[in-house]
Amino acid sequence: MIERLRETIEKYWGYKEFRPLQKEAMEHLCNRRDVIVVLPTGGGKSLCFQVPAVTSSGLAIVVSPLISLMKDQVDALTECGVPAARIDSSLTPEEREKTLELIRSRQLKLLYMSPERLVMDSFTKFLQKLDLSFIAIDEAHCISMWGHDFRPEYRQLRTLRKLFPNAPIGAYTATATEQVRHDIAEQLSLNDPAMLVGSFDRPNLIYKVQAKNRIIKQVGEIIDRHRDESGIVYCIRRRDVEEMAAALTAKGLRVAPYHAGLPDETRKKNQDDFATDKVDTIVATIAFGMGIDKSNVRYVIHAGMPKSLEHYQQESGRAGRDGLEAECCLFYSAGDYGTWKSLMRDMDPKAMEVAVAKLGRMYSYCTEGVCRRKAILGYFGQSLDKSDCGACDICLGDVDSIDDALVTAQKILSCVLRLGERFGGAYTALVLIGSRDQRILENGHDNLTTYGLLRDYDSRSVHDWIEQLTGQGFLEKTGEFNVLSVTTEGRRVLKAEVTPRLLCPTKKPERERKAKVATNGWQGVDKGLFDALRKARATLARERGVPAFVIFGDAALRDMARKRPSTLDRFLDVKGVGQTKAKQYGRIMTERIRAYCVERSVEMDLTVVD
Ligand code: ADP
Ligand code: ZN
Repeated sequence: MIERLRETIEKYWGYKEFRPLQKEAMEHLCNRRDVIVVLPTGGGKSLCFQVPAVTSSGLAIVVSPLISLMKDQVDALTECGVPAARIDSSLTPEEREKTLELIRSRQLKLLYMSPERLVMDSFTKFLQKLDLSFIAIDEAHCISMWGHDFRPEYRQLRTLRKLFPNAPIGAYTATATEQVRHDIAEQLSLNDPAMLVGSFDRPNLIYKVQAKNRIIKQVGEIIDRHRDESGIVYCIRRRDVEEMAAALTAKGLRVAPYHAGLPDETRKKNQDDFATDKVDTIVATIAFGMGIDKSNVRYVIHAGMPKSLEHYQQESGRAGRDGLEAECCLFYSAGDYGTWKSLMRDMDPKAMEVAVAKLGRMYSYCTEGVCRRKAILGYFGQSLDKSDCGACDICLGDVDSIDDALVTAQKILSCVLRLGERFGGAYTALVLIGSRDQRILENGHDNLTTYGLLRDYDSRSVHDWIEQLTGQGFLEKTGEFNVLSVTTEGRRVLKAEVTPRLLCPTKKPERERKAKVATNGWQGVDKGLFDALRKARATLARERGVPAFVIFGDAALRDMARKRPSTLDRFLDVKGVGQTKAKQYGRIMTERIRAYCVERSVEMDLTVVD
């Protein structure tokens, strides 16, 4: 059976190996056992049910929450030569009839549909007469109230087991918490399901965190590093989205906004423009994401702090689904904390308590200065088996811990006490650097013993440290004006019983700090050829009316520009090229490769050991 699965992946998808847990996930379904698969975004969940669907005799049903997701997946399967279709409200009656006919004549391997349709009486009856190989539930966490994306229509799936007692069920999600996993098993009445939980590490993502100061400039600098590449900028509020999108557009960048306040058509158009590479960057609230399967997102920027690490993992996880390197940059401020908190004001007290705790944990993540990867994995109950991840700002040395952290922290904390615990971070920072600000003079705070204790630094650095001390629990902010006070733990710092970690931007030159992952993916790739092939792909995508990544992912394009195949036979060696795609596009692509290589005397048909 394993051989059969392996051949199928190679033939249709052009991949030679299984990703972690894929083999096990596929085997269980083939053996008709219920299974829950938890893999991070980009971990390759879809193949876990798509491959068994091809090798099984009957029809597999895939439940998916959004039409756009179904459409992308069905397009991608069709491109690979796998007989797949969807039934949803956007189909014309003719399209619908055609699909039903394919099902009746048993030509279809996968059928995508929404949960509400699957349990619709008439449709259920129709499906019950068929031989179903299994039912796959994508984004299965939507069934759980404990998840971050509960969808009431998913609750209807509770009847599935009764309606289709003979069909094994596979549930797939990227949401890690144990509570959600158990809830999924229970809601779906799974029968002793195999539980496969992968590592949540995304080795190809580089994580960076910085305090926010001039946010437009900070965001602009990252986008400049990724010219012509796709990326997402997340903002907290609609207003922030509008402002950011306008500012970036004014810089001449190709961006589009996305939030729930835009008219449906505008939203849809902007999402499509992003999917088809007509715009490079989408600026969005968290309303944007679920329907996005785009594999070549090279950066995800948070222009404001997310409200929990679950959200951060989910949103940043949209980068680098193709397994190639991508950058996740988070900009935070105490203001963001306040914004979220005020948005949580109307929640019921119990829920609010949980939400505020999660928010606090998020804020600590930003300020505590430990390896970001370790912190994220730790949050999900997993650990990193290295001491240095080599791909986050802390491990790369983008920030340095300052040497005299204890003394500096003591200066800050005593200043807060001297100010009678009645002022906020910005004001306290000004007092510490010895500012001649009018208010300080009027209040007579230039006479305090702590006035000017940190005059060698600028107010931004000092304010940053105040944030870091708050995040680490040594200071606390209260009330409408975020007035600072020293916590019990903070008093231990004053007694020199604990030493906080204080960070500042490094002075080391950039080239010494290159992330290891950032260069691997380009090894042996002719970048000029890659660009030429990208143009060819864009033309094909436009002609066929599908997103570019449905034709070939960036990983496949890079492999082409690495191996530079000049014949169809050689073309099949490219990772991500199966037989259908070779037939469909092999001639065009190899012609491009030949033309490029001959003109520039670049070697072709390289044998590359993967
Ligand atoms: P998920 O649904 O878990 O986010 P996907 O199923 O979309 O992940 O897969 C992410 C990417 O990885 C896709 O581009 C997919 O084609 C690719 N992929 C999946 N399995 C493999 C494999 N065994 N080898 C190489 N690439 C794979
Ligand atoms: Zn690290």
